[in-house]
Amino acid sequence: MVQPVSRLMSCIHCFASLVSCLTPSPKHKVLLMTEIIGAYGGYRRTMSFGFTCLIYHATEIFCQRNYSYQNDALGKTVGQMIGAARSARQNIVEGSSRAGTSKETELRLYDVAKGSLEELAGDYEAFLVGHGEIPWAENSPQALALLSLTLDRYTGPLTRHDYGEYIVKMRNRFTSFLEAENPVVAANSILIVIDQACKLLHRQMAGIAETFREEGGFSERMSKARLEIRDTQAVSQGVPNCPKCGKPMRKMVAHKGRNAGNPFWSCTGYPVCNGTRNFTKEGN
Ligand SMILES: [Zn+2]
Repeated sequence: MVQPVSRLMSCIHCFASLVSCLTPSPKHKVLLMTEIIGAYGGYRRTMSFGFTCLIYHATEIFCQRNYSYQNDALGKTVGQMIGAARSARQNIVEGSSRAGTSKETELRLYDVAKGSLEELAGDYEAFLVGHGEIPWAENSPQALALLSLTLDRYTGPLTRHDYGEYIVKMRNRFTSFLEAENPVVAANSILIVIDQACKLLHRQMAGIAETFREEGGFSERMSKARLEIRDTQAVSQGVPNCPKCGKPMRKMVAHKGRNAGNPFWSCTGYPVCNGTRNFTKEGN
């Protein structure tokens, strides 16, 4: 966890110098920065987060009702179960808030959330078997009745107040299953909802990985923005245009050949265009 944070700090430092290089209006600067940082924090719009919230609240109620001092004297099982449900919820929040600056961290935290949900499922499964109950089959009438309920996709404002209102409404909709007084009904229902949340998280992770593969992440957007700014500045400082395609040129240093170590002008369109000019200060 330490490494990505220090990397982020150095990126923030780069940001400061990047921003100071920009000449456009403050509004344009903010737009550009938002583009580089990317989207983040939309977890309240995801179904996986909605289900995970329901799992968390249902687990609290389940533990209060079904683990007493006699059967969980040290509170270890309760601590583990509520801890796992909380970890799932909080890692989705944290992953989403890191989405803009590190897709890698976002993916890792969603993976932790999914792992926590799977760990919690293990506890419910053990509870059922421990009480001589076989978990419901996917196509059992009880499972189908639960699956006929739908969780609305949240589309309201991203505020605590509005989301709170939504989640209370959803909790009421699922309460006869997830917060059922009968522990067998509650444990089975929570298991089914955990499976759904895990499937959704898995799909989300696959989508993020695909976007990253196609568009790159924060570092790639930073480098691109820096190069664009350098080229714009170069034009204003009188650098020459490419003799082949007319794009502005960029000062480079030859790494090999008889001119190794000497500067030359290279087309900013390289590698598509391989135009070069001999280097002179005025670019002529
Ligand atoms: Zn060129």
